[in-house]
Amino acid sequence: MKVVVVGGVAAGMSFAARARRLAEDAEIVVLERGPHVSFANCGLPYYVGDEIADRDDLLLQTPASLAASLALDVRTRHEALAIVPSRKTVRVRDLDGAHEYEETYDALVLATGAEPLVPGVPGVYLPQVHTLRTVPDAERLRGVVDGGAERAVVVGAGFIGLEAVEALRRRGLRTTLVELADQVLPPLDAEMARAVSDALVAAGVDLRTGTGLAAVRPGKRGVSVELTDGCRVGADLVLLAAGVRPESSLAAAAGLTLGTRGAVVVDEHLRTSAPAVYAVGDAIEVADAVTGAPALVPLAGPANRQGRAVADHLFGRGGRRSPVLGTAIVRVFGVVAAVTGRTEKALRAAGVEHAVVHLHHAQHAGYYPGARPIHLKLLFAPDGRILGAQATGAEGVDKRIDVIATAIRAGLTVTDLAELDLAYAPPFGSARDPVNMAGLAASNVLAGDLRLWRPAELRERDPEAVLLDVRSGAEFAAGHLPGAVNIPHTQLRARLDELPRDRAVWVYCASGVRSYLALRLLRQRGWPDTRSLSGGLRTLTLELPDLALERTPEPDPEWLWPAAAI
Ligand code: FAD
Repeated sequence: MKVVVVGGVAAGMSFAARARRLAEDAEIVVLERGPHVSFANCGLPYYVGDEIADRDDLLLQTPASLAASLALDVRTRHEALAIVPSRKTVRVRDLDGAHEYEETYDALVLATGAEPLVPGVPGVYLPQVHTLRTVPDAERLRGVVDGGAERAVVVGAGFIGLEAVEALRRRGLRTTLVELADQVLPPLDAEMARAVSDALVAAGVDLRTGTGLAAVRPGKRGVSVELTDGCRVGADLVLLAAGVRPESSLAAAAGLTLGTRGAVVVDEHLRTSAPAVYAVGDAIEVADAVTGAPALVPLAGPANRQGRAVADHLFGRGGRRSPVLGTAIVRVFGVVAAVTGRTEKALRAAGVEHAVVHLHHAQHAGYYPGARPIHLKLLFAPDGRILGAQATGAEGVDKRIDVIATAIRAGLTVTDLAELDLAYAPPFGSARDPVNMAGLAASNVLAGDLRLWRPAELRERDPEAVLLDVRSGAEFAAGHLPGAVNIPHTQLRARLDELPRDRAVWVYCASGVRSYLALRLLRQRGWPDTRSLSGGLRTLTLELPDLALERTPEPDPEWLWPAAAI
């Protein structure tokens, strides 16, 4: 069998390598338009930032090494111009020899990836405006930085934009980050992305959300970047990182069926609508693992898995596409943010019934030096199915999100999460890991033992309801919700007569732990409508950053009980 692969990086090379391991006799031709195959596109921002000093470290293979080890016929600087499924041919242009030829195939694998979105505004093709997809892109960008650039504007605060901002700040550039959405990191819910925006601001990044790129104009020095809010920012370089779009022009011209935002539609074996033509990676539409809806998930993991699945299918090993959760992670100035499955805003938009818990447990035992919180949000269905999770923190975020991603893949429920047997010693975790705790909190919600209230409900709550702050007197004095009364949870049993029995009680504390204890106490003592603030004030201040807390100038000495060691 002769297979032609168009695109020689993540999905294409994953296919080719697996195909050779299964079929020693197959003829495998890989056409790659760029000068490199099998390069580490995920490493490009770190090369710009000089964390990866040597460009060659990004080049994982060469045509020669692939010919030697896998007998692949890899042709760099060869662009596929057109495919003709009815004749099973590809028209190819040798970009160096500047000649064209036709290549026949028995099967064709389209692995053409996705291209950076270039906004249709004036000036985006000026030489100071860059995109970051290939090694030459990264070399150009790094060259400008090495050449003394001082000011950068990055457009787009998604994963690649954030990595680029960190790299440019690391190299000492004054950096403005422009994002059209009203939050950074749109793949996360707004309150979970706030740790990232705080880190950006603390690192000196000029962050402008809710603002788009209007134009880039030549300036006296560098360029002048005009924003949709009318502001102008001077820059020596502009990086467009406003998302990607499937590179599907070949597929479209060949009459293949396209779906969401021009992505190639494939079946469960990654077959396109044309016979013997497969498609993989960023160019295709996938089925969202949680909602089943068509989705674009331009990430390296799915691309690699899909390449392998096509080889398995072609060479008799089954080979089906696997569910795509969109598990992703980014590090921004010491803050790590990660996501798996669906966000709350995506579930709302899709009309999927869900519940939420927020937790703020440390990455390891609190008594072991260096404990730092992981802010974890877990989304789940009324039947206990896990729908998604997001986490931010300094350490241990990757482990928790990966465990939850594995749990979703395995079809586990929140009750299963509570019972997972995870590695523990004080430097690494807790006897009850944050993942276990999230499962427990969610199980309590499903069992009806814990009724939560959300920050957004604060202003719409029953005015008769008592807003009860169960933190210590000192914490209350330092800042509390307007209208709240304070009974520290350690005093609650002795002061129950201060709470009217015929009124609902909305309890809160710093993180949701003490308010849960108070809720259980009140429920058992006869207060039927008692709710606990999900994630406590830590989550509330992330969701309602403009809400002013009230301070009590002189705390009553009676309140100054030692804060609970919870
Ligand atoms: P690509 O890897 O883009 O390969 C497609 C190739 O096809 C390209 O080399 C292109 O030149 C070639 N091609 C296109 N058309 C033709 C044609 N007509 N003829 C010949 N060749 C053609 N993902 C993560 O999961 N984690 C990360 O940390 C991460 N970081 C990233 C950082 C950057 C800067 C970038 C750009 C991407 C990052 N990604 C990351 C995304 C990840 O790299 C992609 O999801 C993955 O590479 C997609 O694989 P692919 O094979 O579909 O496309």
